[in-house]
Amino acid sequence: MRRAANPSGFAIDARAAAPPEPARDCPLCPRLVTYRSENAAAFPAYFNGPAPSFGPLTARLLIVGLAPGLHGANRTGRPFTGDYAGDLLYSTLLKFGFATGEYAASSDDGLSLVDAMITNAVRCAPPGNKPTPAEITTCRSFLRERILSLPRLEAIVCLGRIAHESALAALGVKSKAAPFAHGAEHGVAPGLSLFDSYHCSRYNTNTGRLTEAMFDEVFSAVKERLSTGGRISESGDERA
Ligand code: SF4
Repeated sequence: MRRAANPSGFAIDARAAAPPEPARDCPLCPRLVTYRSENAAAFPAYFNGPAPSFGPLTARLLIVGLAPGLHGANRTGRPFTGDYAGDLLYSTLLKFGFATGEYAASSDDGLSLVDAMITNAVRCAPPGNKPTPAEITTCRSFLRERILSLPRLEAIVCLGRIAHESALAALGVKSKAAPFAHGAEHGVAPGLSLFDSYHCSRYNTNTGRLTEAMFDEVFSAVKERLSTGGRISESGDERA
């Protein structure tokens, strides 16, 4: 695979013109393929496929979620669109200027992302919102290519521990070097910071594990990082 360095020095895939998205009928995870088929029969109007990443290829920020919700992104075909987690995520992105338009929980609501892209660690909806370790590993090839094909990437926000672990593995960074902690920022490559947040799920917000203020703080830190152009070193210099 041919690679080149982007302006920040982070290695990128020189084939970025072809976005690394799985095929609509990706066959790699048998259990999820079966689930897709069952859902296609039960909910024929739903998207029922790998939810494609959403946002411009020029994005400096990549947000990584876990997996499409059955009645959220699996229904609408756009990450975080149509379920509770999307309400908080998109309202926050609008607040911090990472989105423009109006979020109406539909893929045709006209909302656009600004300097940001949203993807998932696992692109197909898993039963019970729980992908298996093997499915996370298998789908990581797409996450890795997604990360590598964003030439201006400077920040990744991982929503939840699984997204965090998978993004680290995609980047070849050991978990011990960048342990998950809500609000933490890790330098994971030259010019690339990884920020952690608890997932903006209904469960986490209902239980108070994640408040709107806590979520705002994460995106405020990201905004500051991008606006100042200041970068922390790969060798550590984390802040929580
Ligand atoms: S989860 Fe990812 S690797 Fe598995 S079938 Fe879906 S798109 Fe393919």
